[in-house]
Order: sequence, then C-alpha cells, then structure tokens
Amino acid sequence: MMQCPPARRCAVPPALTVKPRLFRHLLLTLVLLALVLACGYAGYRLSERVGIRALAENGERQLELNARAVESEITKYNYLPSLLELNDDVRRLLQTPSHYRRQRVNDFLEGLNQRSASLATYVLDTSGRVLATSNWRTPSSFLGEDLSFRAYFQDAVQGKPGRFYGIGSTTGEPGYYLAHGLRQGERIIGVAVVKVRLDALEQRWQRARLEAYVSDENGIIILASSPARRLKAVQPLGPNTRERLARSLQYHWWALEELQPLARTPLGDGIEQVSYAAPDGDGQAINYLEQSRPLADTPWRLTLLTPLREQRRAAISYALLGAGACALLIVLGLALNQRRKVIATRLAAREALQQANNELERKIAERTADLSASNRRLTAEIGERRQTEAHLRQTQDELIQAGKLAVIGQMSTSIAHELNQPLAALRTLSGNTVRFLQRGALDVAGSNLQTIGELVDRMGKITASLRAFARRSDDHGQADLDKAVEAALMLLQPRLQRTRVAIQHEHAPARLAIDQTRLEQILVNLIGNALDAMAQQTDRRLWLSGVADGANYRLEVRDNGAGIAPELRGHLFEPFFTTKPGEQGLGLGLTLSASLATAAGGSLGVRHPESGGTTFVLSLALLASPPRPGIPP
Ligand code: ADP
Repeated sequence: MMQCPPARRCAVPPALTVKPRLFRHLLLTLVLLALVLACGYAGYRLSERVGIRALAENGERQLELNARAVESEITKYNYLPSLLELNDDVRRLLQTPSHYRRQRVNDFLEGLNQRSASLATYVLDTSGRVLATSNWRTPSSFLGEDLSFRAYFQDAVQGKPGRFYGIGSTTGEPGYYLAHGLRQGERIIGVAVVKVRLDALEQRWQRARLEAYVSDENGIIILASSPARRLKAVQPLGPNTRERLARSLQYHWWALEELQPLARTPLGDGIEQVSYAAPDGDGQAINYLEQSRPLADTPWRLTLLTPLREQRRAAISYALLGAGACALLIVLGLALNQRRKVIATRLAAREALQQANNELERKIAERTADLSASNRRLTAEIGERRQTEAHLRQTQDELIQAGKLAVIGQMSTSIAHELNQPLAALRTLSGNTVRFLQRGALDVAGSNLQTIGELVDRMGKITASLRAFARRSDDHGQADLDKAVEAALMLLQPRLQRTRVAIQHEHAPARLAIDQTRLEQILVNLIGNALDAMAQQTDRRLWLSGVADGANYRLEVRDNGAGIAPELRGHLFEPFFTTKPGEQGLGLGLTLSASLATAAGGSLGVRHPESGGTTFVLSLALLASPPRPGIPP
C-alpha cells in the first residue's frame, strides 16, 4: 500500500480518477434506460387497462343488443305451433287419420310454412310419428317418420313447451325446433312442430364483423359467426354425456370436438381474456375479451368475443409514446441540468472576475493612496527644493553681487589709477588749451580739445563696463561672445597695457545661452587670473579659442603662466581659496564663474597642459544665429 505523509496530498493516478466518472456515467445511463423502459411499461399497462375497460363497456352493450336480437329471433316463432290447435283439419287428422285429411293438412302446412318462412312445419301423433308435414312433396319428407326420440317431442307430449336445437335426422339440416302439445280439452292428442332456421343471426354477425356464438344447454355451440366454431363443445364432455348426445342424435353424427382456449386469464369484473389458436392454423394465438350472458326463455348463452389485437396495438403505441415522452423529459432534464451547470460556471467565473476586479480595485486604491502620499511628499519636497533653490539663487545672486563688488574693490586701485591718469592729462591739457587760446594758437587748442574728448570717451567706457559688471542680471539671457570678449578686455585694458600681453583670438562669433553681463564677468575673472599668473614673467601670451561642439560651444582661456601646483588643483573652485597675497585675492572669482556657468546650463573646467600654463574651459549651450559673412562658423 502506498502511504502518504499527512501534510502532503497524494497525486491520484489519472486512470483512477477517470474510472469512477465512467462508472457513474454508465450507471446513470442504465438508470435512465430503466426509467424509459418503466415509463413505456407503465404506458402500456395504463393503456391496456383503460382500453380493456372501454372494450368491456362497449362489449357489454354489444352483448345486450345481440342477446335481445337472438331472443327476439327465437321467440318470434313461439306462437306458431300453438296456432295449429285452432285448425279443425289438424284436430280431425289427429283424432281420426285418413289420407284425405292428411293431404288437406299437408297442403295447409305447406302454405303456412311458406308464409312463416320456416324450414318445416309438421304434426306428430302422440306416439311421435309424423302425420302431416309441410315438406310432403320433397324426397326428404318427414312423413311417417318416428320422431319420438326427439326431446322436443317428449317435452311437448307432456304439455311442456318443446325447445330444441338440433340437426335434422332426415335432412341433416340444423334448425331450431319449437314443439307444442295440441290439446283436445285436457288431453294432448298430438304435437305440432315448427323447425326454423337461425342462420340469419349468423349472417348478421358476419356482416357486422362480430365474433359471437350461442352455446346450448349441453355447452355445444349451435350458432357461431365463424363456421369453424359451429358444433364445438365449449366445455369438456364426459363419456356419459357424449353417449347420451349420440343417442339423441341431436347433433346428428357430429364429432363434437372441444373448443378449448389456449389460455384463460381473468381480468376482473367477470371479464375474461381468452386466447384461441388462429383459424388459419399457423399456431398463432389470438386474444379476445370474452363476455357472455344467458338468453331469456332458453338455457342458452350468448358469448361475445372482442379481439384485443387493436387494443394491444394501441397499448404498444402508448407504451412507445410513454417511453418517448420519458426520454424527451430526460433529455430536457439533462439539457436543463447542463444549462444550470453552465450558468453556475458562468456565475462562478463572473464572481471570481468580480473578486479579482475588487482585489485589483483595492490594490489600485492602495497604490493610488501610496502614490498620492508620495505625490504629496514629492510636491512638498519640490516646494522645499524650490524654496531652497530660490533661497540658493538669492544667496548665489548675493554672492555674485558680493563677488562683483569684490572684483570691483580689487580693481578699484587700478581703476582709480586708470581714471586719475586721464584726469591728470585732462587737467594739464585743459590748462594748456586755455593758454593756447589766449595766445591765439587755435589749431593746437583744437587738437588738445580733441584729445580731451577722446580721454572722456575712454573714461566713460571704463565706468560703463564697471556698471554693467556690478548690475544684477538673470540666468536666461543671451550673449554675443565677441561683444563679451571685447567688454572684458575693455575692462581689463589698463592692466593689459601695463603688462603687455600678447592676446591670440581663435574664436568664431557665437550666440551663447547666458546673460551677456555674466559671460563678461566670467571672462574678466578668467583673463584677470591669467594676467595674475603671468605677472612674474616677461613673455606673456593669452589664447582665447572657441569651437562649436555639437549643441555646445567650448571657449578655452589659456595662458602660459606659472600654472597651478598639483596639490592645489583640487581646491581651485572652493570659495575663498586664493594664493594671492594680502588684499589682492578674495578666492571668489572661480567659484562665482563656475556657478554662473552652471546656472546657465553650462560648465567651467580646468586643464593643465604639459607644455605649462593653465587652460580654463567654459562650455555653454550654443543658440542658433545667422552666420556672419566671411567668418567661418
Ligand atoms: P583669487 O583670484 O581672488 O585668488 P580665484 O578664485 O579667482 O580667487 O582664484 C583662486 C586661485 O586659483 C588663485 O589664487 C590662484 O592661485 C589660482 N589660479 C587661478 N587662475 C590661475 C591661473 N590662470 N594660473 C595659475 N593659477 C591660477
């Protein structure tokens, strides 16, 4: 046996899972089949019961009708033999027989027989001999025959009505004999007999397709719709009875075979189902509903046989109908069940979907809440950053401003020097001009005045540059590189002249994404530093080279100065880092320049060329500008 650990479920082999389902389906099919058969059987039984009851009721009516017909047929001749009592010729013949009287009675009986449509009418004396008969002319005439053995004679001669069905001993013709004792006062002097045929009844039954027979007191069928049943015994005849009947010649020499049914089944209410072998003798049994009743005034019975063939067919039809209806109901039930299952599956799927949906919605709500919280956090952070940035910008602006002022302060000596020089020259020139005017040397005075004008222009330029440098500006301006270089050099002009620096311009015109003043300020810082670095040497060279690099523009400010000691290179952009002695350096120039470049979306870096000196690289976004004719981009 396979053992499973309790914590784990054993995997059931597929064959074992399929078999019970197969078995269940097989069992269900068998049960449904049995149900269909049961419905069919029930339909059959019900239809059989109802059909037999209907047949029995109909048969009962038919039996009654036909019994009345038989009774009226056999009683309509009852009075006929007694009429002969009224005839004088008959009475005289019985009292004193003579040839003449016999002939007269013969003629009378012949006429009477013709009119009453009976088979024969004849008169017997009390010994049973036929004295006169209607069939006196025929070769099979009864005349002179002794019929004392006939039961009807024996009854009639005793004053009882003689009723008898038998086969004529002379003619061999079956008939119904009605005999009456003819009286003379109290005494019976003879017997009148009328033999009638009853085969009209048989013909009527045949025409109506009725199966019926009349059996007499001996149980012998005397009238039957089917000739095959005629003169058959409906009950077993003992040897004594057979001998008695043979002697009476009632049925002539007929063998009197027994008409025994193959089977007899009581159906209740006095009705019986009987089976007879088919008349064509192919061994097939035919089932009948048998109903019988005694006939009034006779010891006879009328039996009606109603074939059950049609009813059986109807029952089979109902059985098929029942089975079909049951099968239909089962199919309908199965279909409904299947539909219910499909609906249940759909509902379950919908429910699962709804649950998944709800779960999803819940998760979305959770995530949304998370996101909202993050969003709020981010918004708050952005707000803080903006605030910090604004604060920073403000600080930066202030720093820039402080840097500018520092630069201005730093340059104040040289500015004062630069302004004092022209001022002194102006004073001297103006004094000279006055003297030259007093002497009338107007051309010299004019030339002096022109020089004075040039000096004033130059002073104006210096103060304009300073004002522009000190002015606050924004981060999103545009700058013309050439103009900025020109302005920076203008600002540094006094130092440049003093130190005699060879400046090499290798830059193309460009429009850069930075405020004009800020670019000028950066250039003033970088060129100023370069001048400081070259202060101790005699060969001073400055390169200003620029090149477009994709969307950016790279401007390099290179000098051939002393360069920067390797251990100091990491501190260059730190605020207040300076190597300049005393009041000369504040250590803000590079810091401010780098932050101005970064604020404009660019950068400021440094390179230390092998050949010596220092190169500062200013990188800024290049704005589209129409190229100037003659100048390569
Ligand atoms: P400051 O000029 O007030 O000292 P800066 O920030 O402009 O402040 O420069 C910081 C230091 O960087 C200077 O003191 C100097 O030592 C060094 N430096 C700047 N530019 C150059 C250069 N072109 N060559 C050599 N050293 C330089």
